[in-house]
Amino acid sequence: MSSPYPYDAPASAALFDRASRVTPGGVNSPVRAFRAVGGTPRFMVSGSGPWITDADGRRYVDLVSSWGPMILGHAHPAVVEAVTAAASRGSTFGTPTGGEVDLAEELVQRVAPVERVRLVNSGTEAVLSAIRLARGATGRPVVVKFAGCYHGHVDSLLASAGSGVATLGLPDTPGVTTGAAADTVVVPYNDVAAVEAVFAERGSEIACVITEAAAGNMGVVPPLDGFNAELRRITSAHGALLVVDEVMTGFRVTRSGWYGLEPVDADLFTFGKVMGGGLPAAAFGGRADVMEQLAPSGPVYQAGTLAGNPVAVAAGLTTLRHCTPDVYARCDEVALTLRGAASAALFAAGVPHRVQQAGSMFSVFFVPDERQVRDYDDARTQDTARYTAFFHEMLARGVYLPPSAFESWFVNAALDDDAVGHVLDALPAAARAAAAASSDDEPAERSAVAHDAQVLQP
Ligand SMILES: *Cc1c(COP(=O)(O)O)cnc(C)c1O
Repeated sequence: MSSPYPYDAPASAALFDRASRVTPGGVNSPVRAFRAVGGTPRFMVSGSGPWITDADGRRYVDLVSSWGPMILGHAHPAVVEAVTAAASRGSTFGTPTGGEVDLAEELVQRVAPVERVRLVNSGTEAVLSAIRLARGATGRPVVVKFAGCYHGHVDSLLASAGSGVATLGLPDTPGVTTGAAADTVVVPYNDVAAVEAVFAERGSEIACVITEAAAGNMGVVPPLDGFNAELRRITSAHGALLVVDEVMTGFRVTRSGWYGLEPVDADLFTFGKVMGGGLPAAAFGGRADVMEQLAPSGPVYQAGTLAGNPVAVAAGLTTLRHCTPDVYARCDEVALTLRGAASAALFAAGVPHRVQQAGSMFSVFFVPDERQVRDYDDARTQDTARYTAFFHEMLARGVYLPPSAFESWFVNAALDDDAVGHVLDALPAAARAAAAASSDDEPAERSAVAHDAQVLQP
């Protein structure tokens, strides 16, 4: 497939061609395929600090950070050393190991309501296990979720999901049975009245409400003041559990995740991304009496051959231990600089937009009316053609942004002044490209796939 972009990457294109013959869509996770923005997805070969290098040898400042995990930057020496040492001791035994205890203690110590944790391999697995546990512990079937929130590709939670589901504008969940879908109720994010209405009608059937601690998978949409606390109040009043998904925010926005900014005591939390330090490790945890319902203590079954894998645990533990106050301060500072500069450049170019943040996570919404984005319907008013133009201009200038307007930008603490300066230099031209673009003149080749909406997961 030819690309409308003059600077295309021949080595990545050749790899993508081969990949497309053996892997659906040429990728192992949908948003990587660039469907929403068109062009050739870049195949990366290496990363160091804030920079990543593609198969054509081109370098980019990385503002995706592997969708969150690489908070210390790429190939951090301490993480590389810990992983190498762990692998050389043997990579899995199928027995308990000491590192799992260290990592579990680290999580329990950081997030007060988390008294017990269990380690798993991905955020998706953490969420599906937490949902099963919530159902098992309450003996109730129904899960309430919010439109535009993404909790991994869990059957019951794919309805109106953010991230790749949103990015690709997919129809609701082929492959999910009506039974699974019937036990899921979707309500608008930040809408307390809608939650109350659902509980008024079906309160005694509801096992849990699950929410992103701060939504980051429809672009960044933080909870309105008091929203999470209201979810706590309503669920408690009806004997339902509150599950707060901190897979994205956890250990990224503070050392205790979103809980460090807004301490709402959920019954269960899910974690992933940063806590794996770039390897597959994730966790769910919460109240001891609920968690002890899990096998072998209790009757709710959950297991994993590679759960608590020693190499992944070493990467996660080392990453968490290197997330010092300086790391969070640097992420906050860089995010502040980049948010301000992106907004100033867009303003100068006359492009309507709104920048929203949740801690150091932020995203730029190309919303025509510049109003606050509070939910998924608001997010979908974006002129995504403007983001496409902006994205490609940044890419051409060596800045790697999320290839979708419905994703957070993720900074890392390795972004030094040189890398930040590189981004600042690229912004004015990208803003002008966004100004010149609008949904009306998007190339037909791309609009066929990507025009209407953009929200499935990376
Ligand atoms: C990324 C993400 C997940 C899924 O995690 P995977 O490791 O991709 O399975 C779940 N919830 C949230 C909030 C996420 O951002």
